[in-house]
Amino acid sequence: MVHQIRVIVESLDDAGGVIGKEIITTKNVVKPNHIIELGFRHSEQIDLLSQIEQQLLDKQSVYLKEELYKCPKCGRKLYKSGCVKSAFHSVFTDHKVSTSRQVCKLCKWTSTPSVRSLFGNASHPNLVKIQAELGANHTFRESQKLMNLFSNNSRSTNSHDTINRITEAVGQDLSDNPEVPSKSIPSASHIYVQVDEGHVACTDRDKRSFEVMVSIVFDAKNNQHTTEKKKDDGEVKGVRRRLKSKHCAASALLDTRDTMKQQTLHAAIKQGITPQTKITAICDGAKNCWDIVDSLEKHCDSIERVLDWHHIAMKFKNTRLGHEEMNKQLSGAKWYLWHGLPGKAIERLQLMRDSFQDNPKKKEKVQRQLTYIENNANFIANDQKQQDNGLIFTSQMAECTVKNLINKRGKGQQHMHWSRNGLHALLQVRSAVNSNDWSAICQLHIDVLYKKTA
Ligand SMILES: [Zn+2]
Repeated sequence: MVHQIRVIVESLDDAGGVIGKEIITTKNVVKPNHIIELGFRHSEQIDLLSQIEQQLLDKQSVYLKEELYKCPKCGRKLYKSGCVKSAFHSVFTDHKVSTSRQVCKLCKWTSTPSVRSLFGNASHPNLVKIQAELGANHTFRESQKLMNLFSNNSRSTNSHDTINRITEAVGQDLSDNPEVPSKSIPSASHIYVQVDEGHVACTDRDKRSFEVMVSIVFDAKNNQHTTEKKKDDGEVKGVRRRLKSKHCAASALLDTRDTMKQQTLHAAIKQGITPQTKITAICDGAKNCWDIVDSLEKHCDSIERVLDWHHIAMKFKNTRLGHEEMNKQLSGAKWYLWHGLPGKAIERLQLMRDSFQDNPKKKEKVQRQLTYIENNANFIANDQKQQDNGLIFTSQMAECTVKNLINKRGKGQQHMHWSRNGLHALLQVRSAVNSNDWSAICQLHIDVLYKKTA
């Protein structure tokens, strides 16, 4: 019967001979009376990882020095002069690593390298990648919590400030060096483009908010979805959608939407747009969103424009009139829209409006809804039919909507205020992380954090 297990790190020479042995841990093998005693606990796992990694780092540290042979000041020979320790942050663990000091005996010039000075950063790129991805999809404070939870430790390198700084740096690099789509992308016969916009509170007190836009592009055949149960009126409760491949674009810049158009085009190219491609564009009805869609016109065969059902439904919800019969009428108008009959819906809303001659407030409410439908009447699709055909009629792509972004970033109590450039950088990481080729391109942009300062 085995009584104990022991984890040992052996050091081998180039002939494979053992030249060193370090005991990492010895653990009793006992009958687990509870599943918590089965295997290692989280703290033990982290501890094992930490100790094993430290062994490797200690062996690697002989290589950690500046490649200097002459004193940069007087040109004399440099001598080894002991070691200094500096911080190194691995994905789950923090370490101190020795680096070699060199000194000039004549002028006393000394080099004291650190992991940071040698590599440009004290964090392993794998850690930076995780931090940037979390920072893109969660608040920085949530990211800090998640990182520390998995590390089983409160690590200063996981502070929300650090995660903020890393996410913004990667985002700034994505913004400065956007991906040029490769030429060898298979062409798509039909792609979907969804454009969404929203407003975000600004750090500048004089300006209350600024516009943020997000778009998502995907090949129709990459869309797999299941529809949840319908309610009585035929409206869907929700759609679970899984996109095998998609590309996102986002911008918070004030540049007549040039960046947004450029990036959406890039996303479309990455999804295989050609002059033969048919596009279905889904928007909330805002002019700015259609502007982005229109900019794709010259790059494709045709565009079918569809008003986003999610937004239609939301507007109807906001128009509720606190009057049973009238709300019934309102549901009727909505039903017409769902079945692709905007003319009938408009007629219904006009009748309702006219019946409110004595109630200017309600009249105004109905008029607003009417105007919205009239302005977008050409873009009302037969959503019922689309749904039956398994097509897409709503832009609820949770990870890529502005609303989701704003909600995530603390609406209400701790209202988040953004600078345009800061939010733009964050949006770049968010789009990149949620796009198909992130794993292929991330290293390129993470590298920006490893630029050595001279
Ligand atoms: Zn010198």
